Amino acid sequence: MEFSQMSRQQRLPDPYRPEAAIVSSYLKGLEGALDWASASVLAQPWVQAVRDNPPPFWAMESLLKEYPISSAEGLALMRLAEALLRVPDAETAIALTADQLGRADFATASDGAMARLSASAIALSKKFLPEGGQSSIMSKLGAHTVVAATLRAVQLLGRQFVLGQTINEAMKEANSSRKQVANLRFSYDMLGEGARTDADALHYLASYENAIKSIAVTADAARACEQNDGISIKLSALHPRYEDAQHARVMAELVPRVWGLCKQAAVANINLTIDAEEVDRLELSLEVFEALAALVAEHHPNWRGFGLALQAYQTRALDVIEHVISIGRKYKLRLMCRLVKGAYWDFEIKRAQELGLPHYPVFTHKHHTDVSYLACAQALLNAPDAIYPQFAGHNAGTIAAILQMASRTKTTDVGATSQFELQRLHGMGEGIYREVMKNPGIACRVYAPVGAHRDLLAYLVRRLLENGANSSFVHQLADESVGMDLLLTSPLRLESETSLPLPPLLYGPDRLNSQGLDLTVENMRAPLLAALKTAQVPVVPEFDAKSVAGPITTGASSYQKWSKVPVAERAAVLRRAADAMQQQMPHFCALLVKEAFKTWGDAVSEVREAIDFLRYYANEAERIMQPISLPGPTGETNELRLSARGVWVCISPWNFPLAIFTGQIAAALATGNAVLAKPAEQTPGVALAAVKLLHAAGVPEGALQLLHGPGETVGAALVAAPGISGVVFTGSTQVARIINRALAAKDGPIVPLIAETGGINAMLVDSTALPEQVVDAVVQSAFRSAGQRCSALRLLCLHEGIADAVIAMIGGAVQELVLGDPADLATDVGPVIDREAFNGIVQHVARLSSQSNRPSALEIRAKIAINSEANQMPNLVPPFAVEVARIADVTQEIFGPVLHIVRWNSAPEAVIDQINALGYGLTLGTQTRIDTRAQALAAGAHVGNIYINRNMIGAVVGVQPFGGEGLSGTGPKAGGPHYLYRFCSEQTVTVNTTAAGGNVALLSAHA
Ligand SMILES: Cc1cc2nc3c(=O)[nH]c(=O)nc-3n(C[C@H](O)[C@H](O)[C@H](O)COP(=O)(O)OP(=O)(O)OC[C@H]3O[C@@H](n4cnc5c(N)ncnc54)[C@H](O)[C@@H]3O)c2cc1C
Repeated sequence: MEFSQMSRQQRLPDPYRPEAAIVSSYLKGLEGALDWASASVLAQPWVQAVRDNPPPFWAMESLLKEYPISSAEGLALMRLAEALLRVPDAETAIALTADQLGRADFATASDGAMARLSASAIALSKKFLPEGGQSSIMSKLGAHTVVAATLRAVQLLGRQFVLGQTINEAMKEANSSRKQVANLRFSYDMLGEGARTDADALHYLASYENAIKSIAVTADAARACEQNDGISIKLSALHPRYEDAQHARVMAELVPRVWGLCKQAAVANINLTIDAEEVDRLELSLEVFEALAALVAEHHPNWRGFGLALQAYQTRALDVIEHVISIGRKYKLRLMCRLVKGAYWDFEIKRAQELGLPHYPVFTHKHHTDVSYLACAQALLNAPDAIYPQFAGHNAGTIAAILQMASRTKTTDVGATSQFELQRLHGMGEGIYREVMKNPGIACRVYAPVGAHRDLLAYLVRRLLENGANSSFVHQLADESVGMDLLLTSPLRLESETSLPLPPLLYGPDRLNSQGLDLTVENMRAPLLAALKTAQVPVVPEFDAKSVAGPITTGASSYQKWSKVPVAERAAVLRRAADAMQQQMPHFCALLVKEAFKTWGDAVSEVREAIDFLRYYANEAERIMQPISLPGPTGETNELRLSARGVWVCISPWNFPLAIFTGQIAAALATGNAVLAKPAEQTPGVALAAVKLLHAAGVPEGALQLLHGPGETVGAALVAAPGISGVVFTGSTQVARIINRALAAKDGPIVPLIAETGGINAMLVDSTALPEQVVDAVVQSAFRSAGQRCSALRLLCLHEGIADAVIAMIGGAVQELVLGDPADLATDVGPVIDREAFNGIVQHVARLSSQSNRPSALEIRAKIAINSEANQMPNLVPPFAVEVARIADVTQEIFGPVLHIVRWNSAPEAVIDQINALGYGLTLGTQTRIDTRAQALAAGAHVGNIYINRNMIGAVVGVQPFGGEGLSGTGPKAGGPHYLYRFCSEQTVTVNTTAAGGNVALLSAHA
């Protein structure tokens, strides 16, 4: 196995540390370096001037004043701006416009010429909209006008944030601004980020190359590099797998691409800055940066234009700054450092919560970010030999503080523009900078997006979100109810707690969230590597199917005792087991990788799910097993009680050999039942490890017995045996049917069956969806875990208007997937579970391939065998997608990385009807920006789990209770509040309290 990906040197401290200690040390470092009161005095006239004389155009400030994003109008505007321009068909554009405008009132906009213009466009739109979705010809004619007006409004909005549609147009604009304001420089940003395919990455590369060529024409070779214009690039645009796990590829493939751009920029004496993106790419970006710095030092040692952006909101901000300074010194370069606060705050918070990380990687108090920004600024200003600081932002207080710190730094004074520069985004902060730039000694660079308005949307929405937040300076500047004192209040103070619940406490104080790992952090990966070396999959002896009577008897007698253990004690046992599993996470992950061929990411998620099941059902049992008093006539008490049923047979599948196995068992045990657990034949080792852990936590051995063997013999014998009180099964629809019949054929009590089975899970995508988001969701849902999830996507239904583009992007993205050994962190798709599964899937693929009834039938096949070790891996099935003509052509679930694609152009409700007609009902994805449509489709779908605008796998216990209907299962949903009831018998106890002769209570109360 190849571990090179897993043991790289960690350059920075862990990102997940309590923020208070970090901020406290930053504050100490700032003592004496900054006098906030006088910085605030410097900033006050700027603020006053902007408020007295707001920017005369539709700048962000004015826009947010008219339409705060917390209002229905602001939200509608953001939604329309994000989606409307890309919708290709009129029908859908009308539906989207109606959906969004239907909820907002744009008619009351106050001043601001652009805002008024746009407001009237939108108000006009509203007026003509078809009421209640009518579609008479007249209203349709009106609707077209409406959409045209709204489109115009959105384009006007976009125009405020793009300097030009082409680099030459942008440069022309830049030159005319320069005539009005001295000391203005530009850094052009060719719109586009997050390439999903290599073709996209090459397209972005070409646009950067072309832009540098144009900028070079106007650059002055004799001038200091910082005085020239430059370019900002996003690494995520230049490689489709710019991810930590693909480290080797990134170094081999991305670095040469960026180096090509650097050479061009160096020769032209212009600056090139690498933008900062998400936290999980930080270490990788620094490695790329250092590799490039080494090349610069070797080939262009006098170039002073190479730089990168650094985010102050990261808990490692100052460590990153110091690291970059050390790179500058090591290679004897003077690097440009653009200090920003950070644009992905909401994303980072959500990611940390989803992954269950111990802390957040970014500060959670806005003023902590501000403190960090100042601490980083100080460090940058103090390293003039290695750094040319560029302070980016629009906050008047921060800018004033920087100017003050710069003037106090020995080598710098405010007039010395060669020592540093300020930066702002085009279309933002224009009012404040209008004032700041009255000082002729200050230089400012404008970050200027260039591109078609259509490509602006992701960028624009990020700006709206970032500045629309209540805590944002730009937002507060626009809000005159925020007084000067508050607006310029000192950030130099410490909060001892985070402003949000930490991820482990996401579910409140009563249930600890399972803790996950960030596999991009070496310290978190290392225990996995160690466990992989030591973990041995235990050998589990097969049980003789003829001997089931013995365990049933043992289970029955153990049930007598276990069911009488108070529920709080049973719950405590399960919680102990959860804690132990959390501690042994690396070991369980390694077992899953070895026995079930799970990738590391899947393994971590699975162990977390098992832990969550244990804790969730412990809580649920305590909740539901309390007697409930019921109302009734005087003279009696009525109480409803739940109790365990007896011995349960738990039959679990190999695709979640720990999570589903543990979930079933935990549910039965929490409610006081005894369990006979039959794991999947392919994965008894993981099951045995889980059983041992549960025994060690206090589950009596008789109450939990592991019976390993084939389903047809051991499973069948258990189901058919007398004396069992329930069966819980997860697996194929076909086997569920066999079990159901076997149970029905038995004499004696009717035994309950909980079955969770498969599905032909569909995703419906309309033409408002964002193709990149769709492709991410499709690739994850259809191919992650080699498609071996009950929830996996099998049938993608694409609106005709976007189908070609989305299919091409899926094709490109699939080409980038890495197949191979799941122990290698770079692997996206590991082998399928065994030869039998492999043969079955391969046959299906061959059949689909030959049957495909379109002449130009699409077929997407992933490349296989990335490295020689992958070649040795048996049972690898390359992800495969094929276009079919009709939904009804998909008749069976193929449990592997196989996707069917269908185009549609009818009403989306009709598509849902066809999906319903397949008879399954497990998961459904919808991708649409039309909110009312998403809700209507969800209501019409006979499906257990519906995911809107995201992937459709990875249900979380207690968050997305999992399970379907129809051919997909009986319910109740696993990990949901109704699940445990099915494991219980109900009893009402009525006591006649007057039996002794009279109703004492009644008489004494009414005496
Ligand atoms: C020239 C330029 C280039 C840029 N390049 C990049 C880049 O490469 N990468 C990038 O990520 N961003 C980049 N940005 C965007 C930048 O991060 C934001 O514009 C900036 O954060 C806004 O800060 P401000 O000082 O203008 O506003 P302020 O209102 O003072 O600060 C807002 C910022 O505070 C932070 N914040 C908000 N709420 C909280 C909270 N509860 N707890 C902690 N922190 C919080 C966020 O970072 C938010 O963006 C760039 C900006 C400019 C001007």
